[in-house]
Amino acid sequence: MTTAATPSPAGAPAGGRSFAIGLRNRFRGITVREGMLVRGPAGWGEFSPFAEYGPRESSRWWACCVEAAFEGWPAPLRDRVPVNVTVPAVGPERAHAITAAGGCATAKVKVAERGQDPAEDLARVEAVRDALGPSGKIRVDANGAWDVDTAVRMVRALDRFGLEYVEQPCATLDELAEVRRRTDVPVAADESVRRAEDPLRVRAAGAADIVVLKVQPLGGVRAALRVAEACGLPVVVSSAVETSVGLAAGVALAAALPELPHACGLATMQMLTADVTADPLLPQDGYLPVRAAEVDEESLRAVETDPSAWRARAEAARAAVTALPTPGAG
Ligand SMILES: [Mg+2]
Repeated sequence: MTTAATPSPAGAPAGGRSFAIGLRNRFRGITVREGMLVRGPAGWGEFSPFAEYGPRESSRWWACCVEAAFEGWPAPLRDRVPVNVTVPAVGPERAHAITAAGGCATAKVKVAERGQDPAEDLARVEAVRDALGPSGKIRVDANGAWDVDTAVRMVRALDRFGLEYVEQPCATLDELAEVRRRTDVPVAADESVRRAEDPLRVRAAGAADIVVLKVQPLGGVRAALRVAEACGLPVVVSSAVETSVGLAAGVALAAALPELPHACGLATMQMLTADVTADPLLPQDGYLPVRAAEVDEESLRAVETDPSAWRARAEAARAAVTALPTPGAG
């Protein structure tokens, strides 16, 4: 049973429809999120690898799209999934307001922003704790920016406000493992997990207590479930900042995991200025509903682009699918 062995029925990329949607804030150096949507018998699928990804890397994203459109997802074990509010590297007042407005019991707080000093991280996290109250959970995300000593010092200082975990405090697996040995706060690996074989490496290196998984780069819900099982660490499902169609695949993964001990990073629809559905996947009281997303013709038309380049990317990705090893199999 491999997603990789079931490339889409002939002609699927030819019928794909592409979109370009503005981002409210720059993300990974981009200001516009682009991708393609495919309709199949099981529903809509999204194919939105970042621009720098070639056919081989994109083939997993294509497999995820094909699963959504032609196969459908495994049965959910829950009907909603908890999500976190994300607090960017803003001042404490803004951080407080964002947390309060988010309505989530968990907040992910950006720290270690270039050009800021440690006092700003402390003030931000303190404000978030104040807004969440003592029962809320706070995770901080350094995006790999700290060296080991700084990470250990900052994690200890920030843990004064109570941390659920620290996400990617340093860049490498060796550094993560050292931070993990030197602090009591759990470590989550995010940037260290980009390919299907990475979670197993993270585990083998003793580099993290938790892995952050994204469903498109791993090749779909079933492939990600196999990775999670093979890795054996608790999973936080996160998005690649997709439209509601792509987010629904992440929600389907979160809904199908046997255990879901942490809130997911899937409340990212607000990062986009528009959606392709009339009923966007937005959190309510800190949860996303488990459901597919139906494309709304008028909404799609408002953001639709010439599909020829995306159809060519999909065709190249599809041709590369058969060359993929089975995720989690080795
Ligand atoms: Mg992260």
